[in-house]
Amino acid sequence: MHYAALASGSKGNCHALSAEGQTLLIDAGVSLRQIRQRLEVLGMDPESVRAVALTHEHSDHIGALGVILRRTEWAILATAATREAAGRAQGGEIPASRWIEVAAGRPADWNGWRILPFALPHDAEDPVAFRVEAGGVAAAVVTDLGHPTALVADHLQDLDLLVLEANHDVDMLREGDYPPQLKARILSRVGHLSNAAMAELLGRALSPRLKQVVLAHLSESNNDPGLARFAAEEILLGTPVALHVAHQRESLALSPVVA
Ligand SMILES: [Zn+2]
Ligand SMILES: [Zn+2]
Repeated sequence: MHYAALASGSKGNCHALSAEGQTLLIDAGVSLRQIRQRLEVLGMDPESVRAVALTHEHSDHIGALGVILRRTEWAILATAATREAAGRAQGGEIPASRWIEVAAGRPADWNGWRILPFALPHDAEDPVAFRVEAGGVAAAVVTDLGHPTALVADHLQDLDLLVLEANHDVDMLREGDYPPQLKARILSRVGHLSNAAMAELLGRALSPRLKQVVLAHLSESNNDPGLARFAAEEILLGTPVALHVAHQRESLALSPVVA
């Protein structure tokens, strides 16, 4: 399986998983043109994209949805509530002919891949993360959650690749110049995952199988890649796990992840 973070952060998110000649995007929060360009630069064929799986309706995850619906034939995997919420966003109406319904806790077979959405604590209609198993590799993309839950930890067992949110450093956020209401939202149990909470969850996801960890959805204002990395390194100390940090402006591609 090939994995790339095409963009990750509060200004737009898009992850690509590719195996067996087909590519699935998780979220489409950067422009279609950027998605195509970044895939090409990484040597991943844009023509191999078959579908986008939406985690939730926030604009940094569905910003390109309207254009994708008009200009591509990609299918859209989404829960019924996320489909409806995306439909209320301008240009995001997902026609039945393009929609593959998924539901938290219900594994779906998508062109031979096993896709399992699971619920996240986040302030959207029906937010989910995705665990994807393809070509013998198990990967999960888990961003936009306010705190680590037992249910989330259960879904992170026996992964080869884990993409995990490390949104903010609590002190940087507290002392930063975001308005108090926004700070409270991010810090809430349905906001975003701090470096410390990420580290706790990462500890619960450790297994002999885990090979690659990507820290994602870092805040450009309230985090520092070095701090996020340090928090994860403390947990990964003594393990052979390779650690990466995804960026907002540059894409990150991993060498093929093997089972
Ligand atoms: Zn987000
Ligand atoms: Zn969100």
